[in-house]
Amino acid sequence: MDKQRVALVTGGMGGLGEAICIKLAALGHTVATTYSPGNTKAQEWVAAMKARGYAFHAYACDVADWNSSVECVQKIGAELGPVDVLVNNAGITRDMTFKKMDRVNWDAVLHTNLDSVFNVSKQVCDGMVDRGWGRIINISSVNGQKGAFGQTNYSAAKAGMHGFTKALSLEVARKGVTVNTISPGYIGTKMVMAIPKEVLDSKIIPQIPMGRLGKPEEVAGLVAYLASEEAAFVTGANIAINGGQHMQ
Ligand code: NDP
Repeated sequence: MDKQRVALVTGGMGGLGEAICIKLAALGHTVATTYSPGNTKAQEWVAAMKARGYAFHAYACDVADWNSSVECVQKIGAELGPVDVLVNNAGITRDMTFKKMDRVNWDAVLHTNLDSVFNVSKQVCDGMVDRGWGRIINISSVNGQKGAFGQTNYSAAKAGMHGFTKALSLEVARKGVTVNTISPGYIGTKMVMAIPKEVLDSKIIPQIPMGRLGKPEEVAGLVAYLASEEAAFVTGANIAINGGQHMQ
């Protein structure tokens, strides 16, 4: 059994994030999650999870914003202790062709999906290095690996996450801290279920050799592995979990 750690999952109330929180809690870790300051359902989610036996610690934080990230991680440190496992999972899409892409939708996706990785990792990385143990796990996307029509913003941000992973993993490799990227394909969360069914059935599922969407629990299992003691020699990796949709 691994040592119990403090894990922070950004966007832990979303489709993938919830499964990741549940998996890490099941392994005995203390789990903190962030939610957007405007999210009025956050306390409802915490109560529903409590009813299912999970005592998650939820913190309002706009991960796209530096000051909000500083305050949030300071609060977590004071209340739960230093973060040992960080899962940079919060993300959004604002899809449109490059012809229609405007500055607002470019910035929103880059700030939320990529700047957030800097904003939150920066708060925890030095402490991990000082303590000689840490795990930073960045949730990217298959579309950061292969590109996707209508996603110049999202593909750029998600590819950027892995550049960050590779560079930071080199800097902390001798300090017991690993940094890895997970690149999920299409997983059956609300982000994907928002795609019209006819598009899913005619365009997306046929691209997946397994003929189905992935399950959030399958991604959570990979996060749990990367967060474990056993994964100590895995760093700077970009692990695909996509049903065979894209192979590098
Ligand atoms: P959801 O939309 O279900 O969840 C996204 C989460 O991000 C929400 O909890 C949301 O919190 C949070 N979030 C968004 N913006 C901010 C912000 N500014 N500050 C703090 N939190 C924020 O998406 P998924 O669970 O499907 O996706 C999770 C991650 O996995 C994303 O990074 C996504 O790009 C990636 N991914 C998903 C795939 C899929 O098939 N679902 C495939 C590949 C990658 P709130 O609701 O409070 O705003």
